[in-house]
Amino acid sequence: MTDTSSSPSSRPVPISFEFFPPNTPVGSDKLKTVVKELAAVQPEFFSVTYGAGGSTREKTLATVRDIAALGHEAAPHLSCVGSTRAGIAEILQTYREQGIRRLVALRGDLPSGTATAGEFRYASELISFIRETQGNDWHIEVAAYPEYHPQQRYAKRDLQFFADKVRAGANSAITQFFFNPDAYFHFVDEVRAMGVDVPIVPGIMPIHNYARIAQFAARDGIEIPRWAALKMEGFLDDAASIRAFGLDIVTRLCERLIAGGAPGIHFYTLNQSPLTLEICRRLGR
Ligand code: FAD
Repeated sequence: MTDTSSSPSSRPVPISFEFFPPNTPVGSDKLKTVVKELAAVQPEFFSVTYGAGGSTREKTLATVRDIAALGHEAAPHLSCVGSTRAGIAEILQTYREQGIRRLVALRGDLPSGTATAGEFRYASELISFIRETQGNDWHIEVAAYPEYHPQQRYAKRDLQFFADKVRAGANSAITQFFFNPDAYFHFVDEVRAMGVDVPIVPGIMPIHNYARIAQFAARDGIEIPRWAALKMEGFLDDAASIRAFGLDIVTRLCERLIAGGAPGIHFYTLNQSPLTLEICRRLGR
């Protein structure tokens, strides 16, 4: 297991923040305020998700432009399932023209009921395509799953497919959110033993709304430790207690990850700043 007892480095670890593209002009204005608030902790970049099957293509681009216009590095997510090579090349070209050079490359999921036609099956194929057509111009992030991808029955195969994404040219990885640091450390140890040496940055979900997070966790096969789940459920609609307890456990999780050598922290902000900022403050940012 990775050493969790070593003291944290004196240099603060890089932080990044994830948004989803807002649906309305009001949401976009609000997000600009959130970007300015979060910029206070000097994140390395802000990433913007891409709706299943490209459903937010224009909104993702607009949000990336807004962040860049505020003077910050923006990294669009780009999923490939259901897409053609020509379609992906066109999106990459649009981003290049905006000066964007970092992206989060994903397979993605198609919205239910949509046909699966497309020229890519896995994220590794998207990464190979980007490297073949654009060389090393892009910094490519990929997804990692410390508790394994929910559609993969065999842990070992998931690790191998993750390693394939890195061999195809990924520069670093961001994990699915999790609450069990041992899952992260074990994942990192496993892939290091396979020769994967890129940074694997934990994705951290502040607990904005416990019921919603429990739903995401159930859908994506993420363990919420029983003691924490029972405690949260026991708070019922006492939002202040959920907030206080959630802040404590998520801050403690980040502390343990940083002490154990995590190379950064990526926050799933859900487009809100207060909880994320409070965790950053408690981490000394
Ligand atoms: P892949 O790495 O391609 O893996 C998908 C599945 O296929 C896994 O089960 C894997 O084991 C298996 N597999 C991989 N290669 C092979 C192979 N050669 N043969 C057989 N099986 C294989 N979704 C969005 O729609 N938009 C987003 O913006 C978005 N952002 C995300 C950001 C992060 C940090 C994370 C962790 C997830 C994000 N997702 C997003 C969710 C992601 O799209 C889904 O989890 C999707 O199901 C898998 O995408 P992937 O890139 O991890 O796929």
